[in-house]
Amino acid sequence: MSSEKISTRSFDPSRKIIVAIDGPSGAGKSTIARHLARHFGLLNLETGAMYRAFALKALRAALPLDDRSGLERLANETTIRLEAGGQEPGEKENRVLLDGEDVTALLRNQTVTDAASRVSVFPAIRSWMVRLQQQLAAGGGVVMEGRDIGTVVFPHAEVKIFLDAAPEVRGLRRFDQLGSPPAVQPEEVIRDLRARDERDRNRADSPLKPAPDAVLLDSTHMTLEQAVEAAEAIVAAKLGQPPSRA
Ligand code: C5P
Repeated sequence: MSSEKISTRSFDPSRKIIVAIDGPSGAGKSTIARHLARHFGLLNLETGAMYRAFALKALRAALPLDDRSGLERLANETTIRLEAGGQEPGEKENRVLLDGEDVTALLRNQTVTDAASRVSVFPAIRSWMVRLQQQLAAGGGVVMEGRDIGTVVFPHAEVKIFLDAAPEVRGLRRFDQLGSPPAVQPEEVIRDLRARDERDRNRADSPLKPAPDAVLLDSTHMTLEQAVEAAEAIVAAKLGQPPSRA
């Protein structure tokens, strides 16, 4: 649980705001967070990648994913570093270092995705991650995306958006991102997504829910482009800026 080695890329120091984006899987958080970061000159930090990196370590150690004390011991000997991508195309993804190893390319498969949702229920794991995330964004100037950013990590964030969409719509978006030919059926993607939603919404510690002061954005009947525009307008309004598009 080492927290000393935290680094961020340089960013516009005049912008100190924190934009918290929360919501279930497939709601469009990553696309929207990246756009907002680029548009408003902020760092984009994807907290899910940190849970994924720890899940990868647990899988490599062949630890049962419900072994709370084993996971806590493992966390005590783990260092996770999240580095924001740059603002240029191709630099947009966060880099994740697990004990110094760049594991970014290993985190998006279904096994790690499922494991991340299981290890993230444990309070000691969550409080370690929350501490890291608070240090990472202490200077502000970030869009931070996750499940508990507006409720737990930065309850005083200047802007909070809770993104949602119907599970079928989110599942189909995820399915479309799988590329062709997909190895799974859309129904399977929707089923996995519902199972993860269930765990995220019903865990005892910091369940997924909108902060009371979050702006709710439901993109069920929107294209992702429309959702991006709506999110941009929410942030612009909070910053007192005129909307950039009609
Ligand atoms: O956002 P992403 O899908 O990468 O997150 C992976 C998993 O990590 C989620 O399914 C969720 O269970 C967990 N997570 C969390 N809190 C966060 C970010 C992610 O519990 N702030």
